[in-house]
Amino acid sequence: MYNGFGDILETSFIDWKPYKHILMLAARNGKNVYENQVNMIKNAKAHRNKITIRDIFANYWSEFVNMCNAKGKHIRLAIIDSVDKMIHCKDLSKGYLFFECPKCNNFYVTGFSCNSRFCPSCGNRYREDRTREIAKVCLNRPHRQFVFSIAKELRPYFLYHRELYDILFLSVEESFDYILKSSKIAKKEKRDFGYVSFLHTFGRAINDNPHIHVLICEGYMDKDDKFHKYEHFHYEQLRKTFMKILLDKIYDFLKTNYKNEKNKFYQLKCELYGKYKDGFYAHGPKLNNSSRVAIKAISKYIARYVSHPAIAESRITDLDYVNKTISYYYEPHRDDHVDDPKDKLGTQYITESVFSFIAKLIRHIPDKGFHLVRYYGFYSNRTTKNKDKYEALYTNQEITKMKNDNYWVNHLITSYYYNPLLCHCGATMTFCYELSFFPGGANDG
Ligand SMILES: [Zn+2]
Ligand SMILES: [Zn+2]
Repeated sequence: MYNGFGDILETSFIDWKPYKHILMLAARNGKNVYENQVNMIKNAKAHRNKITIRDIFANYWSEFVNMCNAKGKHIRLAIIDSVDKMIHCKDLSKGYLFFECPKCNNFYVTGFSCNSRFCPSCGNRYREDRTREIAKVCLNRPHRQFVFSIAKELRPYFLYHRELYDILFLSVEESFDYILKSSKIAKKEKRDFGYVSFLHTFGRAINDNPHIHVLICEGYMDKDDKFHKYEHFHYEQLRKTFMKILLDKIYDFLKTNYKNEKNKFYQLKCELYGKYKDGFYAHGPKLNNSSRVAIKAISKYIARYVSHPAIAESRITDLDYVNKTISYYYEPHRDDHVDDPKDKLGTQYITESVFSFIAKLIRHIPDKGFHLVRYYGFYSNRTTKNKDKYEALYTNQEITKMKNDNYWVNHLITSYYYNPLLCHCGATMTFCYELSFFPGGANDG
């Protein structure tokens, strides 16, 4: 019998009385089972005590849709779909898995995850998947990160013409091609570089700030698949090339599809050349160390953006149901580069209408089938280069382990420190097909 109760329970704000009986039962089966039960209760929805994106949408989404309809504003299908999935994530009426204890009459029921990128609770697992995919293609070589941002004057164009996101990816690709592969010697050797590009459409203030992160391997493969180190990326040239290619492409796009915007854009283009003499911002810090830890950390950081709503729930401080307003905060990006605390803007606190908040968030939901992460050169799955003779960043076993860690039960164990299938009697619950419910009539088959 375990009787270390006090220490764990005293430090939390949960009323433990209703759980006393179950905790007593768990304690009989040892510290492990007892602590598992405590963590499970702590993580119950009622105790998490935070405002969730799901709550916000569950309360205000239909009102928001009605408002849009009344104003004749169109909502993209991908948005309707993602929001609907997220609202019904783990909703038992949409199906569930049933687990029963072989020793006592206890059971555990869990609904299906929506696996939507817009769902904060599914986002973590989605992010782990992405991080693993990136880790899987990378060679165990130094890498460098680049960030390609655009002039703020261009942001509205991206808001109205989502096709420009493809053009942004393409401009980055062509800029690298030009800088790295167009010289005589590069052509002769048929140099091929491996990199991954990620589109981020928002900044910390949930504002529109389309930019692309690139993780590139510092080396190329020649026509005989031989690997050569390469670390002299020419930043200035890259910045200018990127600006020229992007501006030309946007202009061509408008000329073909939106003729009436063409002239205005041409004027803007000339202004931008004058204003951004050094090209658009593209910086590429060398990673502090090129170890796999650093590469994994950076890909995890980058992947977070492509797998979550534009705001972390922990930054939401209040939801006012009477005035229909929401409050949240963020640390301005600008402060990252300011050393003197006096010159920092400091934490920004925002309170705004819940509907404008919703509008800001859904803008960043990508269209169906649109890839936010793209692989190029010898990191692309279309590559004909044989990378097998070069050491990969991770072994196959390690990749498999990462995959297993992301199985929903293991994910709960590593992230929230409880195994939902460990019964308070100490036995492990097993899946019961007959009592589970699969929508679409999978049970009947
Ligand atoms: Zn049991
Ligand atoms: Zn979900």
